[in-house]
Amino acid sequence: MTDKATANYIGRFAPSPTGPLHFGSLVAAVASFCVARAAGGRWLLRIDDVDTPRCVAGAAEDILATLARFGLEWDGEPVWQSRRTAAYRAAFEGLRQAGHVFGCACTRRELADSAIAPDGSHVYPGTCRDGLPPGREARAWRVRVAGCVAFEDAIQGRQQVQLEDEVGDFVVLRADGLFAYQLAAVVDDRDAGVTDIVRGADLLASSVRQIHLRHLLGAPTPRHAHVPVALDAAGEKLSKQTLARAIGAYTPGEALHAALAFLGQCPPKDLANAPATQVVDWAVANWSLGDVPRCLGARTPDSFASQ
Ligand code: GLU
Repeated sequence: MTDKATANYIGRFAPSPTGPLHFGSLVAAVASFCVARAAGGRWLLRIDDVDTPRCVAGAAEDILATLARFGLEWDGEPVWQSRRTAAYRAAFEGLRQAGHVFGCACTRRELADSAIAPDGSHVYPGTCRDGLPPGREARAWRVRVAGCVAFEDAIQGRQQVQLEDEVGDFVVLRADGLFAYQLAAVVDDRDAGVTDIVRGADLLASSVRQIHLRHLLGAPTPRHAHVPVALDAAGEKLSKQTLARAIGAYTPGEALHAALAFLGQCPPKDLANAPATQVVDWAVANWSLGDVPRCLGARTPDSFASQ
């Protein structure tokens, strides 16, 4: 859409078209938009439709229309992951030739007893790391991990994760033949020259994996800022599964106002009745990253939570 960039800052918002935008996704959009625009940078839009079985017909178009109606104007054309398979394959082949990935025969059931990582995922026990067991065929492909990933998160502070103990070798090419989100996101962010990733704290564990992949691909690591995730009354992240309300049903002013308040920006009360562009202009002019609460999640205002 527009291109208002004056600085060497490239941010992005990357929704998955699994349903309409909800309060949680609006919070991530508003935060990444405000940080980018306050820095005089570009704000790109990417539709994360690599996981095609999870995509919902019409959801991407609905998301684009909602962002436009909310005054969150992106730069350039949106990137669609479903059209980027060749780039993912090239990156995967590079990793394979360098010996960074290996074929894995393990089924979900076989991994069910493996250790649980702090993010709730299974830590791969290394079964196929040094070769497939006799008579077994590769289903998926995993990237080897070793050492530690450390980075400074602009909101959550210093992060340090031991890859073998807390993450384990993770899938980059899935058993159904689709490239995993972790690889796709890294290749897309790298190719778009993204300098800053601002997104929900539920993706902290993904950031660790993605930084590891970046190291292997020889790509520079962007700056990161993880904003609190919007939780419902039960402490669950808002999502299609938790029946989060579609944000498009609200007036842009009230929804943007609530998202800014959630992000600790203290917007004036009467801004909730203002047109979207006015709220967005106020948000960029008054943006303060230091006021975003330093926590992994916070309660969504009731009227924006579940249906
Ligand atoms: N599409 C993913 C999501 O909506 C990831 C976004 C990202 O990489 O920022 O959770």
